[in-house]
Amino acid sequence: MRSTMQESQLLVREILRHGQQVYGTSEIVTFEGEEFRRATFSDVSRRVAQLAHGLSGLGVGLGDRVGTFCFNHQEHLEAYLAIPSMGAVLHTLNVRLFPEQLKYVIDHAEDKVIICDAAMAGALARVVGECSTVERIVVVGEGDLSALEALGEIGVTIAYTDLIAGKPTEYEWPDLDEREAAAMCFTSGTTGNPKGVAYSHRSTYLHSLASTSSATLGIASTDRVLVVVPQFHANAWGIPYAAWLSGADLIMPKQFLQAEPLVKIIEAERPTFAGAVPTIWNEVLRYAESHGSDLSSFRGIVCGGSAVPLSLMQRFQELYGVKIIQAWGMTETSPLASVAIPPREAVGDDAWTYRTKAGRVAFGVEARVVDGAGNVAPRDGQSVGEFEVRGPWVTGAYYGDPTPDRFHDGWLRTGDVGTIDEQGFLTITDRTKDVIKTGGEWISSVELENALMGHPAVFEAAVVAIPDDRWDERPLACVVLNEGTEVSVAELASYLTDKVAKWWVPERWSFVSEVPKTSVGKFDKKVLRAEFAKGDLEVVALEKKA
Ligand code: ADP
Repeated sequence: MRSTMQESQLLVREILRHGQQVYGTSEIVTFEGEEFRRATFSDVSRRVAQLAHGLSGLGVGLGDRVGTFCFNHQEHLEAYLAIPSMGAVLHTLNVRLFPEQLKYVIDHAEDKVIICDAAMAGALARVVGECSTVERIVVVGEGDLSALEALGEIGVTIAYTDLIAGKPTEYEWPDLDEREAAAMCFTSGTTGNPKGVAYSHRSTYLHSLASTSSATLGIASTDRVLVVVPQFHANAWGIPYAAWLSGADLIMPKQFLQAEPLVKIIEAERPTFAGAVPTIWNEVLRYAESHGSDLSSFRGIVCGGSAVPLSLMQRFQELYGVKIIQAWGMTETSPLASVAIPPREAVGDDAWTYRTKAGRVAFGVEARVVDGAGNVAPRDGQSVGEFEVRGPWVTGAYYGDPTPDRFHDGWLRTGDVGTIDEQGFLTITDRTKDVIKTGGEWISSVELENALMGHPAVFEAAVVAIPDDRWDERPLACVVLNEGTEVSVAELASYLTDKVAKWWVPERWSFVSEVPKTSVGKFDKKVLRAEFAKGDLEVVALEKKA
């Protein structure tokens, strides 16, 4: 029997319409370095229509890719809403990509128009002259455009304000098939070329709804959301769409992502919710502690992208009463896949243990662990293997890049290794490319790092595999100490002894001034391994007890 229910396509246009019609007085606040710029959802909606008219005027039609090379701000949000709603495809470009990778992704996506921050014009100019599909560049804000202008015809830019000026404030948004692409993102390409993922209208709609669930982030109209995670990093984790459809205010920090301006924004605008990778919160905490800042406005902070240190979560809670909520996901999963909210019966240390895990999958996502032989492992919290996921906002392929080895019977192979327990809690012990295999057994670099970062003298710690004659691989701990502190490797090693298995404790250590980071702020272990191989790291060996 067929249902009697109405059918409608799940489109980004509906996200736009809901925020516009229901939450017109909610606001977007953009930090301009000193001042804050404000606009209501109603103002923004009018500009979204104007942008769509402007882009149509440049020849952007159904299915055309429009790149954005921007930090987080009001105009970038306007692009998020206008481009998919008009039937074109939003392609968020990572402003920190190396030139060759930036050129690769622009060419691969065949971007027709690029909306670029004036502050980033120089970086775009380095490659865009060579990108044959790009026809026009739209510039947001003011700055030195000479590098672009020097490129001749392609460097003749149009100002965003001119593009939208005088255009009608309404747009006849087209009817689209919900399975059409709405947006695309590339993984940051830590190995090889970045891989493209094309989100559909349907996946974006469902993922946005999922982010408003109280089983995940619970973004609601009572929130003021500070979007620190860049809009070019997996659509800022989908937060802008979730905030828009639920009427939460959005606070955008532009390129001011250092601890000092972030704390200034937090104290002035008092956000209730935010999202960013652990390295950002670590810096914010260090700054706030030494300046007596007030971070208490948050009801919660979603943190992920890499494992969230327990010490970081505990410090935030102790000092400011703020809950950091760990989430796990990847560009390929839109990105929200799981969230670590402890079961209601867990209290005290038990609850903290749950919070250090990747969490339970969001409704819509299914996860399983598959062992080395390709068999599904039991959900017993013990059996280790690679996570595979599937669901309506999980990619089923890479764009124009056949990689069948990344998929398995309709599931995405995540490249993350870990366990699932009986209650559905995922624990990630490593990425497949970062695992440390010692004498045939795995050591979790993530767990070692987490334990080390609990030591009061340690600011950051990254653990990588290094070759070992006897055990094949052993861990090398690379440690950044807090300013003005000193600690011996013997003390750090002994600190670990009651926290991890004895044979996990590294024999080799390196004190470094900082852990190298990827373009999205994660520990770049590839760089550390290469530095070690070249002999560039000063390594201290732990003296063996007699
Ligand atoms: P990239 O793959 O280029 O780093 P993504 O942002 O898509 O870009 O990264 C996804 C990866 O980040 C996941 O596969 C996982 O390894 C890691 N990750 C994300 N969240 C967590 C988390 N909470 N704990 C551990 N690792 C995480």
